[in-house]
Amino acid sequence: MTESELLASVPDQLFIGGEWRASTSGKTLDVHDPSTGKTIRQIADATPDDARAAMDAAAEAQESWAATPARERGELLRRAFDLLIERREEFALLMTLEMGKPLAESRGEVTYGGEFLRWFSEEAPRVAGRYGSNPEGTGRMIVTQRPVGPCYFITPWNFPLAMATRKIAPALAAGCTVVIKPAALTPLTTLHFVKLLEEVGLPAGVVNVLTTSSSGAISEPILTDDRLRKLSFTGSTPVGVSLLKQAADKVLRTSMELGGNAPFIVFDDADLDKAVDGAIAAKFRNIGQACTAANRFIVHESLADEFAARVTERVNGFTVGRGTEDGVVIGPLIDDRAVAKAKALVEDAVARGASIRTGGKAIDGDGTYFEPTVVSGVVPGSDILREEIFGPVLSITTFTDEAEAVRIANDTEYGLIGYVFTEDMARGQRMIEALDTGMMGLNVGVISNAAAPFGGVKQSGLGREGGAEGIHEYLATKYTMTPNPFA
Ligand code: NAP
Repeated sequence: MTESELLASVPDQLFIGGEWRASTSGKTLDVHDPSTGKTIRQIADATPDDARAAMDAAAEAQESWAATPARERGELLRRAFDLLIERREEFALLMTLEMGKPLAESRGEVTYGGEFLRWFSEEAPRVAGRYGSNPEGTGRMIVTQRPVGPCYFITPWNFPLAMATRKIAPALAAGCTVVIKPAALTPLTTLHFVKLLEEVGLPAGVVNVLTTSSSGAISEPILTDDRLRKLSFTGSTPVGVSLLKQAADKVLRTSMELGGNAPFIVFDDADLDKAVDGAIAAKFRNIGQACTAANRFIVHESLADEFAARVTERVNGFTVGRGTEDGVVIGPLIDDRAVAKAKALVEDAVARGASIRTGGKAIDGDGTYFEPTVVSGVVPGSDILREEIFGPVLSITTFTDEAEAVRIANDTEYGLIGYVFTEDMARGQRMIEALDTGMMGLNVGVISNAAAPFGGVKQSGLGREGGAEGIHEYLATKYTMTPNPFA
């Protein structure tokens, strides 16, 4: 399928109550290819009235979806998994076109995103309660799990497929209905995915999609609707904080997958080959635009020069270009703002004394490209140590002993993930307990897996997605007491 055939096959309307429909305003929004800056598709731009209609549809479908046998809900997810994998190339190309990542990485996201469908198809029939005597022996305690109810999902642009399936799959498995609002920058993958769900038998109203250029305005009627039970958001911490405040008015259940500022610690006893491989993966995957991206390389002073030289050599071998081209490792950043941010962070680090080993500049011409960059000798107080870089910039600072490494690593309001490279397993275990993060990579640079509980502590968020924990975000526990039937 050519790029234009694929783009033409993606729905350009809202999906509400099982029907594709135009926005009530008749307006559309443009979707761009970040490698060229050109508009690739125009799609419906939802209004608050559309949001109310989507909420109505999700609320109406809730009872029958919750009553659908768990096995049937799981089988729908499994069919979706099979079809998604069959159409891997199509979804991969679509993600590359709207988001920019290299095709090989988009294919990887189809696998990763698809695994949530498979995992939760298997979890759906395993939801269980418990039954037992109270300690006094006077009664029986019954604990059951029920679907929370209609959910509202807001997703970011950096993983257009996986951030949607990581929420939709557990919600559907648990028996919840959904309204989802993808990022305005990358809405096509969600629209295409929901069309796939429709093809495998999704009942009307169970998943509803709103694409919009006014995310605040369309979220308001949903978040203030008494029928909504849950908000799950993936995105930046400031937007998450504002949504949490709105969710408080209705005491909504919330899951918040927010920003990160991951430390990547290389101890003097690390295997440097493993550390360099891990660094390249943890930093440059997704062009550095991942919440799990290593943001601060904290390297023992005895190794810092060699580490910097070795990562620089690898980075100098990267091919930069459009994600559809063979061999490209670094595609465009999502937009001009992302380029300006990477540039400003590098300039601030250099002004405070850091050295640029390679890269450091925006690339002129079409598209929003930034050179893959290594900066070393970054000094405390630099903005690059405090802010999420969200770009292909590897920033190195040093430490002298374990206590200092831990202090630097934890010196952030974020707590999503930390990476540690050491061959001393006792030290590795100490790091598991010492780092204030929800996740850790011990001698590995990529850890995401549908079977694992993904999520952060501190201002990186609340709740977990994936793993055995993931479905519980969509279940409400109910406890019932009955008298001892033998008394
Ligand atoms: P963002 O600006 O916070 O946007 C995320 C989503 O929120 C988008 O759909 C956006 O819609 C929407 N949004 C923005 N303002 C809103 C409002 N007032 N009301 C309702 N919705 C609103 O984040 P981003 O730039 O897309 O994504 C990057 C961030 O996501 C980074 O901080 C990254 O670390 C984080 N992230 C976290 C995880 C995790 O699992 N912890 C995973 C991936 C990304 P529009 O597109 O219309 O602005």
